[in-house]
Amino acid sequence: MALDPETFDQLVQTVRRFIRERLVPIERQVDEADKIPDDIVAEMKELGLFGLSIPQEYGGIGLTVTEEVKLAFELGYTSPAFRSIIGTNNGIGSQGIVNDGTPEQKAKYLPKLASGEIIGSFCLTEPDVGSDAASLRTSARMDGNEYVLNGTKRYITNAPHAGVFTVMARTDPENKGAGGISAFIVENGLPGLKFGKADKKMGQKGAHVCDVIFEDVRIPADSIIGGKEGMGFKTAMKVLDRGRINIAAACVGVAQRLIEESLRYATERKQFGQAIANYQLIQAMLADSQTECYAAKMMVLDAAEKRDRGENTIQEAACAKYYASEMVGRVADRAVQIHGGAGYLAEYSVERFYRDVRLFRIYEGTSQIQQLIIAREMLKRFAG
Ligand SMILES: Cc1cc2nc3c(=O)[nH]c(=O)nc-3n(C[C@H](O)[C@H](O)[C@H](O)COP(=O)(O)OP(=O)(O)OC[C@H]3O[C@@H](n4cnc5c(N)ncnc54)[C@H](O)[C@@H]3O)c2cc1C
Repeated sequence: MALDPETFDQLVQTVRRFIRERLVPIERQVDEADKIPDDIVAEMKELGLFGLSIPQEYGGIGLTVTEEVKLAFELGYTSPAFRSIIGTNNGIGSQGIVNDGTPEQKAKYLPKLASGEIIGSFCLTEPDVGSDAASLRTSARMDGNEYVLNGTKRYITNAPHAGVFTVMARTDPENKGAGGISAFIVENGLPGLKFGKADKKMGQKGAHVCDVIFEDVRIPADSIIGGKEGMGFKTAMKVLDRGRINIAAACVGVAQRLIEESLRYATERKQFGQAIANYQLIQAMLADSQTECYAAKMMVLDAAEKRDRGENTIQEAACAKYYASEMVGRVADRAVQIHGGAGYLAEYSVERFYRDVRLFRIYEGTSQIQQLIIAREMLKRFAG
């Protein structure tokens, strides 16, 4: 259910103020320390930011996709690491349960995810299985009234902090494709559940990723999402479909910030006796960034509105993620160029954003995988 416009507007204003006053000033500190301060995480919990997309009946704010992307435009104004800490609870770490969980599973986990009491992570990728996710090898073997999990999941966002994992594993060893996969809810702390050391990344410092290793981890049979085997790949794809619109919105938010930084620098920096913003070659870069950012924003809003109307948005979500993540890469590159030598130095935020945005073209489906999805959907729709 959508919030009434006044309440939603208040939420946007509150989040905007929180970002400008509390997050922007510590962006560099977070990048250098590779840690988001605990008091900031506590404030995010108080603001309800961990439960934006979780239905109100389970303690969340229950935003529609359109409302969610409008808030993501705001959140994108600051370092993506801040979005990452709340991102899994609002997206891949909760939506499997929101979409396909049994009433008992929803009641048990969603309130804790909505409040931020626990962090949720999503375990699909493996050392030998990335884009071809349907070929995953982690196994879940039935033994009595339990499943026994074995395998390794790679690059799992927020895993070092997670209390609960959505884990895709193969329940049918005979079926090597998508139909042999089931999704499970796995709580942290179980015997045999281990973690690799936190990976060192190019950007988005303060957001943490590591391997999650399952060695004969025993979980109750009712941990299977939706209570039915063989549905796990569908659950994962539904989660990613919504997630793509959200990532695209985050890209728009970061692009808006980068354009603002570029305008500020271009109007302050003087060369050849005048502000560099007066030079048409600089203006061309500004205009290209603005045009592409505007196009991406419209794509995101259109995809979100279609999804809220209940339409199939596989193609639109993939188009938006593909275009917006490539767009923000170009905008970041131009922002560095407009800053000249200063753009290459850590003192200016564009250097950090340039590294941060690179990830958007890779995770939750690379640009190449988005292209394949778009073309597959085009051909399907053409064939009727
Ligand atoms: C920081 C970070 C956080 C992440 N968080 C999570 C998470 O929380 N949970 C999770 O499950 N995963 C997560 N991932 C994994 C991420 O989703 C994968 O890295 C991504 O899907 C790509 O898989 P891969 O790295 O194995 O690359 P590969 O699949 O090996 O791809 C390598 C290259 O080949 C291309 N390629 C592959 N197949 C094709 C094809 N058919 N046609 C054309 N080109 C192709 C790709 O586009 C890419 O350019 C994260 C990754 C990172 C880096």
